[in-house]
Amino acid sequence: MDEMGKGMNIFYAPPSQVFGSHVELTGQEAKHASKVLRYREGDPITIVDGEGSRYECKIVQITGSSVKAEVIDSKKIAAPVPELVLAMGIIKKRDRLEFAIEKSVELGASEIVLFRSRHTVKENVRMDRLEMTALSAMKQSLRAYLPEISICDSLQDVLDSYCSYQALIAHEKVETDAGIGSGLKSKDKLLLLVGPEGGFSDKEIEMATEREGQIVSLGKHRLRAETAAIAFLSQFI
Ligand code: SAH
Repeated sequence: MDEMGKGMNIFYAPPSQVFGSHVELTGQEAKHASKVLRYREGDPITIVDGEGSRYECKIVQITGSSVKAEVIDSKKIAAPVPELVLAMGIIKKRDRLEFAIEKSVELGASEIVLFRSRHTVKENVRMDRLEMTALSAMKQSLRAYLPEISICDSLQDVLDSYCSYQALIAHEKVETDAGIGSGLKSKDKLLLLVGPEGGFSDKEIEMATEREGQIVSLGKHRLRAETAAIAFLSQFI
């Protein structure tokens, strides 16, 4: 792999694998560096911990299952502002759900919450696959933050968990293009809500607006849930 190719890759090690002056890659990350991209001892390598720290390192030891690197320089990357929690109804088609996760990470969602709603179908959420998708998207977009993916039983649970956030509900059945008003509960902690294929129920919309949630239009045409997530997040980057 030419220098440029290597330069454009970053790797992930959770904080538990950062030991002050050294960082260790294990599992898939170690394989990706040593077997796929054929990094060698002595090579420079960039590693992020998923919580904002970015380590410029030099590889000191490669074994079959681990890559040990010495920290040359470390930097704390500022968290994106506003903090964007993307909460979306569980999309039934797995590839569409994975697509939505990938785009949300690329667009800077700080957390992703999947909720069961009145119109979601029995979900077959493969969390391991979603987490792998998020990790790949973080690496590809050269970000230092790995969004946590969680599941809530209902929209109410989501609203309760993020009660200090300003909820913005993307809803296609909104009369006027309300736009995002000024009376936000918080302007740098936003909870973006996108419904599942079947949309939000009237009761869910009512519940969200009762808690000072604002309804937002994403244009006059009906978007797929995964497209809505992209359109919504894109308004804040
Ligand atoms: N309710 C419709 C479409 C749901 S689309 C149906 O029954 O098929 C899934 C989600 O995408 C919606 O719940 C909403 O959150 C979002 N969405 C889609 N188009 C939108 C638009 N034009 N404006 C705002 N939100 C939209």
